[in-house]
Amino acid sequence: MGPFYFMNDKQVTLKRDVVVTGIGLHSGKQAEVRLMPALPGQGITLRRVDGGGVNFGQIRPDLSHPSPLCTLLDDGHGMTISTVEHLLAALHGLKVDCVQIEVDGPEVPILDGSALPWVEAIDRAERVELEAPRHWLRVREPAKVLEDGRVLLAEPHMRRALRIACMIDFPHRRIGRQEWKGVVDEETFRKEIAPARTFTLEAEVEAARKAGLIKGGSLENAVVFGADGMVKNPEGLRFMDEPVRHKVLDAMGDLFLAGQCVWGRFHLTAPGHTANNALLRRIMAAQ
Ligand SMILES: [Zn+2]
Repeated sequence: MGPFYFMNDKQVTLKRDVVVTGIGLHSGKQAEVRLMPALPGQGITLRRVDGGGVNFGQIRPDLSHPSPLCTLLDDGHGMTISTVEHLLAALHGLKVDCVQIEVDGPEVPILDGSALPWVEAIDRAERVELEAPRHWLRVREPAKVLEDGRVLLAEPHMRRALRIACMIDFPHRRIGRQEWKGVVDEETFRKEIAPARTFTLEAEVEAARKAGLIKGGSLENAVVFGADGMVKNPEGLRFMDEPVRHKVLDAMGDLFLAGQCVWGRFHLTAPGHTANNALLRRIMAAQ
């Protein structure tokens, strides 16, 4: 099924349930997520269904807690769900405003480390318009976050769209300095951003394994840049600048914790989950 564009700017939900299963990055165990239709105005709600069930309610930026390896959501009472960012990026990229997310366990499956399997799941569920106008989170005044070499800037934008310019500089000869910029509409998201996989350096993988982390991590769900300067994945890269595209993907997921599609212009130098979340909070505080 090909892309389907909604021109009316109404809220969008799914037509039917869809279930996605795969390995959890941290536990290495099978993890399952069910996406379900929701009513107008319900937004994106999150629920853990194991152990009697815990409602996280509507997604919001203060659910997010700093974690070096992923975006971890915490209900404030010790119940957590990790690795939500690529699912949220897909919902943002395809502008799904209302959906109920049920997670069976502490993490969302990592799948191939990109947002593409989530795009495919949303396509399987199909999208439908709701009889309610979309509520955008519009950047109304400039907001800035400066943190250890990271410079994140949000500005108002005339067009009702998300424009991102992203720059990274990594000391690895297959990464180096990379820049991606453009308006992330649905077509651009599907072709240029969603397929970009998460990436890591070989040394970091070894350190995390020794610490008992990322039990589910493998070349199936991340691009690994080797100490020898090579890409360790036999299939190679999906884009020459796959890392910076993945940073755009992560930023879209982090910004979607607003629970709304974001309208504005972003300049992101060396973005990270924590800094992205701080920027989002500043934008929302200025509403
Ligand atoms: Zn990511």
